[in-house]
Amino acid sequence: MTETLVFASAVDPVEPWRAALEALLPDVRVRTPEEIGPGDDVRYALVWKPPAGFFARHPALRLVTILGAGADALVGRDDLPDVPVARLSDPEMARMMTHYVLFAVLRYARDIPAFEAAQRAGRWHYVHPREAREIRVGVLGLGELGGAAALELARQGFSVAGWSRTPKALPGIDCHAGPDALVPFLARSEILVVMLPLTPETRRLIGADAIAALPRGAKLVNVSRGAVIDEAALVAALASGHLGGATLDVFETEPLAEGHPLWTMENVLVTPHLASVAIPASAARQIAENIRRVRAGHAPEHRVDLTRGY
Ligand code: NDP
Repeated sequence: MTETLVFASAVDPVEPWRAALEALLPDVRVRTPEEIGPGDDVRYALVWKPPAGFFARHPALRLVTILGAGADALVGRDDLPDVPVARLSDPEMARMMTHYVLFAVLRYARDIPAFEAAQRAGRWHYVHPREAREIRVGVLGLGELGGAAALELARQGFSVAGWSRTPKALPGIDCHAGPDALVPFLARSEILVVMLPLTPETRRLIGADAIAALPRGAKLVNVSRGAVIDEAALVAALASGHLGGATLDVFETEPLAEGHPLWTMENVLVTPHLASVAIPASAARQIAENIRRVRAGHAPEHRVDLTRGY
């Protein structure tokens, strides 16, 4: 019997997902909410920030898959049925994220913002390069994406530390865990990369106190969720010079509001939430495998715990 997967995303085009998933699962039809008709037996949902009430329209769902890694948009909803929720776990997505993080860290490590400013002023501005091993990078969050980025930074020779909720052992990474380890970890991080999921525990975790714990002139890269950082405290620290710069892919409110101070700060690079995206050609395999598992009565892989928030 043919089943239907409802695909809902305002940013991802449906066609590549339809082609990739229907090729792997010939008895599953991929439909957008607008395409669904009375003959559709909607058993699976593939979603990125679905609108309020979305799930209530699909009472026969057996599996929800997030079209990404972060589960925060599904936490606290009253329309979500009691079915497993899985995230994407895709090495290509981790690779794309690692590229962004590497770009942002290398840009600071090689003083590129200073040369960009000097060029605008027509000024020859020599800064003697530092060796990578002298540069202390801290990665907050050592999960699928954070762990991959931290390992690549270490491979590039940076002095890398990481922080997670539970203790980790990653080769070449100085691993720290738990709330008590946060301030010492921040104090050694001259480039801080934020890769934590947004949960009740991490919301505004990086506020004025945490920012003050960073060394003066530290650079911050946020690729997780805007609300992990207190944006007002971030702006104040960038304005005072305590923070030397920030590369921000995510914001408390997206799109970033017109006239927001972050748009025009000289030491800030703004990108529109695209550090990594879901890639149909590779991620469809995982989704199809999970659907096969659910059909066979097995638990899907890569489940998120909505109580924990990730
Ligand atoms: P994972 O869920 O695999 O890992 C999360 C990591 O954060 C784990 O190491 C976890 O610790 C740690 N963590 C969670 N809560 C706490 C806490 N309270 N204190 C300390 N550490 C904590 O996430 P990913 O690495 O796959 O992704 C990270 C985030 O990146 C996503 O949640 C998403 O928000 C964001 N993202 C952004 C994208 C973009 O384009 N900008 C694209 C994709 C993802 P432990 O290991 O102990 O559980």
